[in-house]
Amino acid sequence: MSDVTIPDIIIPADLLPVDGRFGSGPTKVRPEALKALSARATDYMGTSHRRMPVRLAVAELRNGIAELLRAPDGYEVVLGNGGATTYWDCATFSLIDERSHHLCFGEFSGKFARGVEGASHLSAPSVVTSDFGTHPPLAAVEGVDAYCYPHNETSTGVMLDPVRVDDEGALMLVDATSAAGGLMFDGGATDAYYFAPQKAMAGDGGLWIAMMSPAAIERAERIAASDRWIPPTLDLKTAIDNSRKDQTYNTPSLATVFLTAHTVNWFNENGGLTWSAGRCAQSAEIMYTWAESRDFASPFVQDSQQRSKVVATIDFDDTVSAEVIYDVLLANGIVDTFGYRSLGRNQLRIGLFPAIDPSDVEALTACLDHVVSALS
Ligand SMILES: *Cc1c(COP(=O)(O)O)cnc(C)c1O
Repeated sequence: MSDVTIPDIIIPADLLPVDGRFGSGPTKVRPEALKALSARATDYMGTSHRRMPVRLAVAELRNGIAELLRAPDGYEVVLGNGGATTYWDCATFSLIDERSHHLCFGEFSGKFARGVEGASHLSAPSVVTSDFGTHPPLAAVEGVDAYCYPHNETSTGVMLDPVRVDDEGALMLVDATSAAGGLMFDGGATDAYYFAPQKAMAGDGGLWIAMMSPAAIERAERIAASDRWIPPTLDLKTAIDNSRKDQTYNTPSLATVFLTAHTVNWFNENGGLTWSAGRCAQSAEIMYTWAESRDFASPFVQDSQQRSKVVATIDFDDTVSAEVIYDVLLANGIVDTFGYRSLGRNQLRIGLFPAIDPSDVEALTACLDHVVSALS
């Protein structure tokens, strides 16, 4: 990537974090979870997903998510294969009736909108964008039946607290891939709160999980009964029916199910969302306080209400190159702190997910000080 030579800077061992994974996804999976998985090497891995004990793990995952996210009455946890990107396609076929409204303020929210733009069975979506580092207003729009936006835009480090727009009958579809478990929210303000588990949930990829409201379930069932053609893997009615039996329509990654359930149990045993989101808030406080107190660094997101507590984007001034810092950190075992490329800024992006220890974020700031001082 870089053609500059990496300065030979060795960060003293006593400054280094215990775990060097600060990526924005995939990101840190707890070694405890992997150890627990390897203990199930012969009685869980490699067994049928239509039998016990895999169905028990799926049940544990669904119940654990409902508890963690404080599912309102009647909401159901549904899952299927393919990650959050596939859920966009599921929503395109199974949740959007005619026309959706999209808030676009980064890579992921933009991708969903572009996918819907290509759907010939729908009207062209309503799309509102804002400058990177901000989010557009979440407000009612005439003639739409689904509002689509991320709880946290992972590419830019901007968060948007879900609220229900005053629009009778419209669904609120919230992408929570980097938010679920890391940010407080009101589940009742959402109709589909969906995510892939390799970010805030410290699992691995390949799965989508959605907490769906009765209205969203009803919408999916009504569209499935209509004459719209839906590819079977993208039919949410099929996913709902399978999830109710603690199964998926086709074979899931058993490891991902296990690792995610393990994380969710860890969150719930320690106090639930208040606890897991509290860790992110603590890490964010450490990271942004550090950036604000250094001459050479500053938080990218100006409005502190929009500044993400799960993904920190930190700008550097022109006295120091973020790319060189990234290279030096990498050479010292601290990985994936690169910024989102399309932003084109002198920036690092730091994952602050609940599995990442706030004390390791503290250690990271000490490492950054060490590297910057060695570079100047
Ligand atoms: C990573 C991410 C996605 C894509 O997840 P996949 O599992 O790769 O499909 C979607 N939305 C957001 C907000 C993300 O951070």
